[in-house]
Amino acid sequence: MAEFKFFPQNTVWEITFACNMRCLHCGTSAGNRRPDELTDDETYAVIDELAELGGEMLTLSGGEPLLRKNWREMARRAIKNGMKIYLISNGYIVNEKIVEDFVDIKFDNLGISFDGTEKTHNHIRQRPDSFQRAFKAMKLMSEAKVRYCAVSQISNINVGELDDIRRLLIDAGCKLWRIQMTTDTGRMSKDFVLDLDKYPAFIDKIIEFKQNPNGIQVDVGENIGYYGCKGTTLWDGMPYLGCYAGTRILGLESNGNVKGCLSMPEEFVEGNIRNSSLKEIWNNPEGFKYNRKFTRETASGECYHCRYLPLCRGGCTTTSFSATGQRADNPYCIYRMEKKQGIAPCDTEMIVELLQRFEPIEEPTEANLGGGGQGC
Ligand code: SF4
Ligand code: SF4
Repeated sequence: MAEFKFFPQNTVWEITFACNMRCLHCGTSAGNRRPDELTDDETYAVIDELAELGGEMLTLSGGEPLLRKNWREMARRAIKNGMKIYLISNGYIVNEKIVEDFVDIKFDNLGISFDGTEKTHNHIRQRPDSFQRAFKAMKLMSEAKVRYCAVSQISNINVGELDDIRRLLIDAGCKLWRIQMTTDTGRMSKDFVLDLDKYPAFIDKIIEFKQNPNGIQVDVGENIGYYGCKGTTLWDGMPYLGCYAGTRILGLESNGNVKGCLSMPEEFVEGNIRNSSLKEIWNNPEGFKYNRKFTRETASGECYHCRYLPLCRGGCTTTSFSATGQRADNPYCIYRMEKKQGIAPCDTEMIVELLQRFEPIEEPTEANLGGGGQGC
């Protein structure tokens, strides 16, 4: 991290906490608008400040971002500042007029949440017409040739429907599908978070989809991987270089709270832009330590002993923290699982070359860890 320049290249912003759904998996328990949400003028000032800090991409998120009245003006302000603009919606209020706005404003990409067959999607989203509305939103956007992707949050509830989801997305004309794994944050119950024993088959399924796209490309979420054999195949042989929260990624809450990544729990709030400027928070030499000052000592459990730690740094911070309470002790790691089964890693030349830049580490075996190893 020493020579790596920190700047908020990509900001994801909960522009309102208001939501017209009450999804079981919502990472923040969104629902009603926060009483102290930023004013319109405050939002424009933040966008200008982001641009001054070198921000290149802004994603408007929520809650449901389309419920904030000035979403169009915020998007235009970001574009005027030279930033790429994205928006993630549950699709519920997307109609012909809003699709026209997406086109006029020139969004670089949009995301529509889509989590299962009609019964499952409506159950997860706690609204009986949410499936029809989201499906219609995607059809309208496909017809208008708007660039968008479907975003699916996978949990125990819908992991068995991946083939059905893909078929429905193809029917809707969707060309890009982002698959993420739900974490135990916000409203999500621990019981619904994907069971570890389902994880290898889940990865197999994504690899199958990637290898036979059938008209729809899959984009793998940052909390799914890493290394070993399946993890390397999943990431197309490219090195997965860990979590960029607080180094290149920034999360903003609708009341001005600043975090390294919007998906992180409240323990990771670094400050509020009403108390100090965004620049001061971002440039705080003591800020975002969990990533900016990451060393092997930051990690624990099996990640601590892992040969890939200098590259992967324990993967997604939110996933690791929500599963074990540790920044880097991530049980959702296929390499860990394969190692226990005696499967040798399939490192590509690029991965080998990168690993050679770091001190080699001798990994403990099952035997000298005394069975289950640390942390898991
Ligand atoms: S064990 Fe931890 S450090 Fe190693 S590859 Fe898995 S997540 Fe990364
Ligand atoms: S916490 Fe996870 S989702 Fe957030 S930036 Fe890090 S890897 Fe990405």
